[in-house]
Amino acid sequence: MSLPVLILGGTTEARALAGRLAERGDCAVTLSLAGRTRAPAAQGVPVRVGGFGGAGGLAAHLRSSDTALLIDATHPFAAQISRNAVEAAAATGVPLLALRRPAWEAVAGDRWFEVESVAEAVGGLGQAPRRVFAALGRQELEPIEDAPQHFWLVRSVDPVEPKLRVPDAAYVLDRGPFPLDAERLLLREHRIDAVLCKNSGGTASAAKLQAARELSLPVFMVRRPTSAGGEAVGSVGEAVAWVGQRLASAKRGA
Ligand code: NAP
Repeated sequence: MSLPVLILGGTTEARALAGRLAERGDCAVTLSLAGRTRAPAAQGVPVRVGGFGGAGGLAAHLRSSDTALLIDATHPFAAQISRNAVEAAAATGVPLLALRRPAWEAVAGDRWFEVESVAEAVGGLGQAPRRVFAALGRQELEPIEDAPQHFWLVRSVDPVEPKLRVPDAAYVLDRGPFPLDAERLLLREHRIDAVLCKNSGGTASAAKLQAARELSLPVFMVRRPTSAGGEAVGSVGEAVAWVGQRLASAKRGA
């Protein structure tokens, strides 16, 4: 018996989890992507793309696909889909697990300024012109236009179109994981004197923090939104174990 498992994805962990579950042979995994990236990385399992139409739409999808387990492995800053998952799981009775990589924590030598939003970080940079590396998603760049006095280095998977309305900006197209050597080089080449990023956690984009520490650069770190609640684990291994337990009890009950 193969039970349908839906993973809400868009992260490295979601892809890894999908691969691990597909190997089990007793669940039919589908990975759901929002469709933000033009050419997403290969996921290795069947993929569906696009929003469900809110919590109600997700609940309807869970019912029509007879989904046995739902795993929210979306990005820690993807707050809306996580709230929808909690609501849809409650409405349908489908067991839900959130897979959330632990947040980064400052260590000795870090110069972090923790803020609630990108706008607050941009304001915190001050009036004097600086050279800022904005390690943010394409959809989050708007507040930057309120601070045209700075040089902005923007890195994204897909091109930023239209370009930001600031006089001095450079755009780098790249997809993680980002190695430490390359991060050091990037900061040096562009003479960066401040970093602006979100507390995404995980390893794929953590090297910039070490590079900033080595150069004693201030990091304006946007805090995570409040968690949507419900059962959560921090690693792919724990999520695999949760699925194993749930599938075992589903088979016993069948
Ligand atoms: P969001 O604000 O929480 O979601 C907005 C809407 O997008 C949701 O209400 C949902 O539409 C749709 N959606 C989001 N994730 C989806 C998924 N995996 N499958 C199907 N529909 C999804 O999320 P976001 O910040 O726009 O992020 C979108 C995706 O990008 C997520 O999958 C996330 O893991 C990934 N991502 C986000 C970030 C980030 O910093 N936000 C960074 C890296 C990757 P409906 O209400 O119509 O269902």
